[in-house]
Amino acid sequence: MSGLYFHIPFCRQACTYCDFHFSTRRQQQPAMVAAIRQELQQRAPTGPTGQMKSIYLGGGTPSLLSLSQLESLLQAAQANFSVDPAAEITLEANPDDLSLPYLKQLRQLGVNRLSIGLQSFDDSHLQLMNRAHNARQSRQCLEWIRAAGFDNFTVDLIYGMPRQSPKHWEGQLAALAPFKPPHFSAYALTVEPRTVLAHQVARGTLPAPEEETVAAHFDYLQQWAAAQGYEHYELSNLALPGCRAVHNSAYWQGQPYLGLGPGAHSFDGKQRYANVASNPRYLKAIQEGQPTGTSEWLRPEDHLNEYLMTRLRLDEGFAWADLTERFGSRWAQFVRREAQKHLKAGRFQEAAGRLFIPAAWRFHSDGLAAELFALQPTA
Ligand code: SF4
Repeated sequence: MSGLYFHIPFCRQACTYCDFHFSTRRQQQPAMVAAIRQELQQRAPTGPTGQMKSIYLGGGTPSLLSLSQLESLLQAAQANFSVDPAAEITLEANPDDLSLPYLKQLRQLGVNRLSIGLQSFDDSHLQLMNRAHNARQSRQCLEWIRAAGFDNFTVDLIYGMPRQSPKHWEGQLAALAPFKPPHFSAYALTVEPRTVLAHQVARGTLPAPEEETVAAHFDYLQQWAAAQGYEHYELSNLALPGCRAVHNSAYWQGQPYLGLGPGAHSFDGKQRYANVASNPRYLKAIQEGQPTGTSEWLRPEDHLNEYLMTRLRLDEGFAWADLTERFGSRWAQFVRREAQKHLKAGRFQEAAGRLFIPAAWRFHSDGLAAELFALQPTA
């Protein structure tokens, strides 16, 4: 099972917290679409084999592309790969780019899932994040999505905003409830280095998110989502039964994927490939027929660490048999030994041959996974 990812590296404006690769200089948009098509044609012969089960247009802001630009990328995918007729085809979109006619035309292009960068229903928070849309547009686009016939979509929300009270976060989820999205992602605001937010926190103009408050938001999220019928299947992702993300789930399960565009990553099952995260350098490489990025050979322990980090964010964790098959019994024994004290303390649980983090400890998933990291197995 394989997935195809297009990174569209343009945004209308820079959100204060964002450390993804994007540019607000959009003059190069037509040249970039042509270059990504060219990269696809160049890499398809050595790309993932088998049917593509998902195509994901992410970024940046893919909804800044015109319909004909999107169509040209999807046509290139169809022309160069065997795409499953039932493939999940997701487009990331911001509310300020959407209109009912545009949404209807997206459906005609074959886009069957939308990922909406909504983030908040509160204008003051949207302004604080320097988002390009307002709360009215957040609500409006959710109505249009349904009216356009999209029954598969996901919404991003951010919690743990500076000075955000638990009551305020409860209000955000209450605002989401009437739209009943089949899937949503809830991310704790993270202060990434070299972002505007990091400068604001360093200068003291904004407080850093307080861990205690963020943990309270997460607790409420868990309770609320369960009461609404959502499965909290990944630390930041929640879905109604049968509505889990195909593309992201494959990524979390370590399936191969091909990533195209500046800053995109690919994985062939063994080796990772990272495209240069610079629009001019990417365009130049394509024009000159040079490689667009570099390969990265992962040491077994790096693979294992990544496996633990992604799998322990899933509600189902991982199966000991799977870990042993992938990494061998020495590494499996190493992880088992490291897990013991956490099992005794109830921070991990085992059932049906799987190790996972119980709901009460899920907020700490990343830190707990890191506790198992394999530096070196003992002889
Ligand atoms: S729209 Fe998305 S990718 Fe662009 S700056 Fe904002 S968060 Fe980052």
